[in-house]
Amino acid sequence: MKYVDDFRGAEACLAMARQINAAAADRSYRIMEVCGTHTAAIRRFGIPAMLSSRIRLISGPGCPVCVTSDAYLRNAFRMAADKNVTIATYPDMLRVPADGMSLQDLKAKGADVRAVNSALEVLEIARESEGRTVVFLAVGFETTAPATAILAQRARRERIKNLKIYSAHKTIPPALLSLGRDKELCLDGFLLPGHVSVVIGVQGYRRAMRSLRLPAVVTGFEPLDILSAILTIVDAARHRKAVLRNGYGRVVREGGNPKAVSLLKEVFVSKDSLWRGLGVIPGSGLFLRKPYDSLDARRTFSLRQEDECRLDNGCRCAGVLTGKIEPSACRYFGKQCIPQKPLGPCMVSREGTCRAFFETR
Ligand code: SF4
Repeated sequence: MKYVDDFRGAEACLAMARQINAAAADRSYRIMEVCGTHTAAIRRFGIPAMLSSRIRLISGPGCPVCVTSDAYLRNAFRMAADKNVTIATYPDMLRVPADGMSLQDLKAKGADVRAVNSALEVLEIARESEGRTVVFLAVGFETTAPATAILAQRARRERIKNLKIYSAHKTIPPALLSLGRDKELCLDGFLLPGHVSVVIGVQGYRRAMRSLRLPAVVTGFEPLDILSAILTIVDAARHRKAVLRNGYGRVVREGGNPKAVSLLKEVFVSKDSLWRGLGVIPGSGLFLRKPYDSLDARRTFSLRQEDECRLDNGCRCAGVLTGKIEPSACRYFGKQCIPQKPLGPCMVSREGTCRAFFETR
């Protein structure tokens, strides 16, 4: 346990928290973590309780199923209703509600909806499903997009004609630009997501952070990782310095994973994309490029453009995802909306803010 204890020791964590609190004696600091796994770790390790009330940690839109629009889900429901279609997607997607139903409900009514843990499983499903069209609902950030890119390459190379991809992949740097410019949020800095950073590296954020002139630190998921990143941000913000640091050097490299990055460039093209809560963010969506467009479900099924994102059941995920409210501000939190029966996407996934807050109440 040596290496875990090195990053979790209570004494070291409390000493680091004291340093942060002393550094933040002059004013309040608003720091956003843009990763659902960070939100869960911050709650699980009780980090807010170690810090003074002048440090406000704000959860951002780092949960893939949470930011996926209702319009995308409606298109998925329409395809699932076709008797000749098999839908395959990651398990969390099955439980995301829209219009009072979910893919899981459609599956219970007889639709062929399958949960997969890896994009490449879809290749096998397609091979075994002659005569049916298999649609992969591809969601997630730079972390899952490379696997979808490999799936697209393999399907094209092996001429698997009954496999289609409906990409809702999104990229994090354009979302940082949108959040960092939000005057209402008025952020002092970002904790940058460890997993995404493995792919895009520190260099993946340079342009966005140069434009925002805010401190930002790539960090891991242990309490000392997170606390030392907060200290760096507070110190930099106090001195009005726009630093971009790699605090997760044991995993993340400056240039990230060049193979994964070039794979993304080969298969996808960046276009505007709709995020729940954040609206349309320019250049933030990954769509299949021309050589792969015969695999594109948008084209095959003439899908309606995703231009709407509004759950009309009173769910306040849009506010939660943009850090404008905490889950407890939603009247359904922990009552009508619980992980076993989610009313909104933020209660579905372990990366969802409402779920993280619910599980650490
Ligand atoms: Fe939506 Fe449930 Fe969160 Fe309320 S508690 S914002 S209904 S997910």
